[in-house]
Amino acid sequence: MMTIDKFNFAGKKAIVRVDFNVPLNEEGKITDDTRIRGALPTLKKILADGGALIIMSHMGKPKGKVNAKYSLSQIVDAVAAALGTPVKFAPDCAKAQEAAAALKPGEVLLLENLRFYPEEEGKPVGIEKEDPAYEDAKKAMKASQKEFAKTLASYADCYVMDAFGTAHRKHASTAVIADYFDADHKMLGYLMEKEVQAVDNVLKDIKRPFTAIMGGSKVSTKIGIIENLMDKVDNLILCGGMAFTFAKAQGGKIGNSLVEDDKLQLALDIIAKAKAKGVNLVLGCDCVAADKFANDANTQVCDDKNIPDGWMGLDAGPKTQEEFKAAIKGAKTILWNGPAGVFEFDNFAGGSKAIAEAIAEATKEGAFSLIGGGDSVACINKFGMADQVSYISTGGGALLEAIEGKILPGIAAIRGDK
Ligand code: AMP
Repeated sequence: MMTIDKFNFAGKKAIVRVDFNVPLNEEGKITDDTRIRGALPTLKKILADGGALIIMSHMGKPKGKVNAKYSLSQIVDAVAAALGTPVKFAPDCAKAQEAAAALKPGEVLLLENLRFYPEEEGKPVGIEKEDPAYEDAKKAMKASQKEFAKTLASYADCYVMDAFGTAHRKHASTAVIADYFDADHKMLGYLMEKEVQAVDNVLKDIKRPFTAIMGGSKVSTKIGIIENLMDKVDNLILCGGMAFTFAKAQGGKIGNSLVEDDKLQLALDIIAKAKAKGVNLVLGCDCVAADKFANDANTQVCDDKNIPDGWMGLDAGPKTQEEFKAAIKGAKTILWNGPAGVFEFDNFAGGSKAIAEAIAEATKEGAFSLIGGGDSVACINKFGMADQVSYISTGGGALLEAIEGKILPGIAAIRGDK
């Protein structure tokens, strides 16, 4: 497989799929440039080699229509500043042949939002799934998606995939385009390489003991991951709102705590499976209960299976926090997805903080720690501890699907994984 380090971009035009789906404020100013910074190593290597760059990305959900709110023209200056070189802009990503052809080594062209074309996502527009004509429309769209991908491919000599955030989507720019380059002219970028390595560290090259911490609101959205991890982990901490579904399933009284009543049997199955596989399942034993869903609620620490009527568990209690710490201490591989409480409220961030601190401590002792998938990243940032863990993934859904054991189309397109 070709790699970005092996490839010499001198005199070549590279089309690079990045994830520049950055948040903008009302004035169109970037409020968090993490994603732009994340792509810089790849972009700079290509320029340093003497290559020309064609950068492509999506922004937001314009649903196949031109929408100024999601125009990448708004980020041209920021990208130029980050790269330290001027950036040209192609206002129509499917009509950039001339601009691409005119590029000289060291020059940069940013294409307009790919999702202004429905072909990028490849879903038929304006027709419901129930419509008898849907299947034909889907086929027609798949054909025009190929044409769209072919057009994008025609701009360049080689293709670099570096958008981990969208690697779980089989879109024109993330996967289909790779069909138009031979194996020696397509590769993953540095960010993708790092993400793939991080996932491999927790799924393949596991150093033991391995502790996974799954939190957040619902067990239903995490079940695929929990099942895949069950075969790999030594300790599995299930916390956050989903812990109350487990408490109720075991006959507990959980007051007004979050619960998925249709998942009680599933919770019991998970408990049984953990036992059968010898996994140390940590579900906690106490919680911080509140009399309303607010930071200034009255609170009490109580047994998580005996929560008074009218109260709800919003955080892990002190004994549970000790259980978390014990399961994380000494671990050599750690994966954390999802908070242990309503961390957005300072008064209910204690459980998540205890986890973050234990992970930082274990990381200092040599553990590999991967944090990712949405809220746990916000959590670790809130505590100012991002630099105390091994790796923070840039992918939400993509990371979760990778941990579920699914093959990501954006990676398969380059590596040929089946
Ligand atoms: P998820 O998107 O499923 O990862 O869930 C993250 C959300 O779960 C965060 O917004 C937390 O505030 C929320 N959460 C965590 N613990 C609880 C809890 N005990 N009760 C209600 N919400 C919770």
